[in-house]
Amino acid sequence: MISYILVILCYFTVANSFVCTDPEIVTRDEWGAKPPTDVENLTLPVPYVVIHHSYIPAACSTKEECINDMQWMQKYHQQNNSWCDIGYNFAVGGDNRIYVGRGWTAVGAHAPRYNSRSIGIVLIGDWTDILPPESQMLAAKQLINMGIRDGYISENYKLIGHRQVRETACPGEALYKEIQMWPHWIPNPDEEVIPVVPLDKEDLKPDPREDPDASLASEDNEIKRHSSTDKDESTSRSIKHT
Ligand SMILES: [Zn+2]
Repeated sequence: MISYILVILCYFTVANSFVCTDPEIVTRDEWGAKPPTDVENLTLPVPYVVIHHSYIPAACSTKEECINDMQWMQKYHQQNNSWCDIGYNFAVGGDNRIYVGRGWTAVGAHAPRYNSRSIGIVLIGDWTDILPPESQMLAAKQLINMGIRDGYISENYKLIGHRQVRETACPGEALYKEIQMWPHWIPNPDEEVIPVVPLDKEDLKPDPREDPDASLASEDNEIKRHSSTDKDESTSRSIKHT
């Protein structure tokens, strides 16, 4: 509720007030992104925003940790999933910074049949049982508002969670309940999907990393540092599913 009020305030208070300041953007160069192997342009503005959690990596709280997470996710998506790039358009860190994934203009790989019509935003962390901090959720809402303001997201966009378009736990039970109270959330996106929208090559393989029902490769060791804040280290490592 606090974040919602702040977002509203952002529209009505003076331009340089704290709540109206755009969140800090961390560019691909800043987080050391590898170049994409291919880029497909979005048709703008997009009509959908899709919300994700990362599940793994777990929440990051400093720029250094979040940069490590971005690098790990990109490596996982490019090497394990054979995707062109990190799947998401943007990631929101627990440090309240926005990390550029594929950005505003490139088609992502995060939600089958919606990739070419959406901006995919991941809130880094496992939001199965707990919510992200209010400040992290506010940063995500500010990012959406930036996208509307700058013409990348339709003013009448629709907000959905990943699980609404694929069988997955993402964005986690707690966050999924939360986003149902966010502006523009809709319960039945399938009714609005154009039936002929085909799967593309990056849709064919679900991303096991963000879902507790999947198993992960040995690379999980690289993010073990996060598991001290998780509910159970062995659960994080073995990806026991709920
Ligand atoms: Zn997801």
